[in-house]
Amino acid sequence: MPFAVENLPPCAGCGQCCHLVVELSPLWDDVPEALVVEHEGVRCMDQQGDGACVALDRVTGLCTIYERRPRVCRDFARGSALCLRVVAGFRGAWLTPNEGSG
Ligand code: SF4
Ligand code: SF4
Repeated sequence: MPFAVENLPPCAGCGQCCHLVVELSPLWDDVPEALVVEHEGVRCMDQQGDGACVALDRVTGLCTIYERRPRVCRDFARGSALCLRVVAGFRGAWLTPNEGSG
């Protein structure tokens, strides 16, 4: 069953898009160098063991470099196809057993 937009959690309580690989653009992005890692020549936001971006505050679910967050993060739209897909992958964390049935 597709995950409906109206079932989306508030962004501050979700953070699933901050568990994706975030590639950095040499043209646009200016994030703290300590948070960057290079994968096969591509600069990306470094990730924690579970895939969470190192800039993600695990307590608040908020970005700790919000003013300097990468372009791809700025462009990521709540309710977009990718948002719905990543939320659906973790929806058990937000749905009650009743909502999760069927
Ligand atoms: S944009 Fe989507 S995946 Fe990202 S925090 Fe908001 S609801 Fe979660
Ligand atoms: S830079 Fe900020 S908004 Fe982008 S993935 Fe990391 S924590 Fe999320």
